[in-house]
Amino acid sequence: MTAVAGIARIARLLRPPSAEWQRRAACKTADFALFFPANKEQQEDRERRERKAKAICAQCPVRAECLNYALSRPEKYGTWGGLNEEERKNERRRLFRRSRTDAMSEHDWALYTDSVQLIEIRGLPLAEAAAHLGVDVITLRRVRRQGIQQAEDAAPIPSKNLAPTSRT
Ligand code: SF4
Repeated sequence: MTAVAGIARIARLLRPPSAEWQRRAACKTADFALFFPANKEQQEDRERRERKAKAICAQCPVRAECLNYALSRPEKYGTWGGLNEEERKNERRRLFRRSRTDAMSEHDWALYTDSVQLIEIRGLPLAEAAAHLGVDVITLRRVRRQGIQQAEDAAPIPSKNLAPTSRT
């Protein structure tokens, strides 16, 4: 996939906000304080508060829209789309990594899959596999790093908080 196609895919994931989904938000009638940290909040209180907020998000019909909205802008505070600040930061990183690995050329991807055959299946050392494939060791190492990352990023988000709602 080219870099442009990768960026377009991320742009599709991060749709612009729409007021329509906000009208259907499950938190519309909930206690707003559950979704944002209080000043000098203790860890225990924070966990309790976030659990309650996430329980509401888990039932929310517009959870996916909400999460996309929060990920597409610097929403630093609060629980959005079932994710707290730290979880959204991780998700942004994951999307960013995916946009970079999407830019892997077909040639590099083929090189990566060939190297898997030689290294993981046939048990060749990296240097030998590189010589066999006609590339230097540094190039093969880079391609393998990208390939592994791409394979990992293609896996579902490993978060217990991302159980799909009926609308996702
Ligand atoms: S996902 Fe959570 S924060 Fe987002 S609109 Fe729904 S209830 Fe509110």
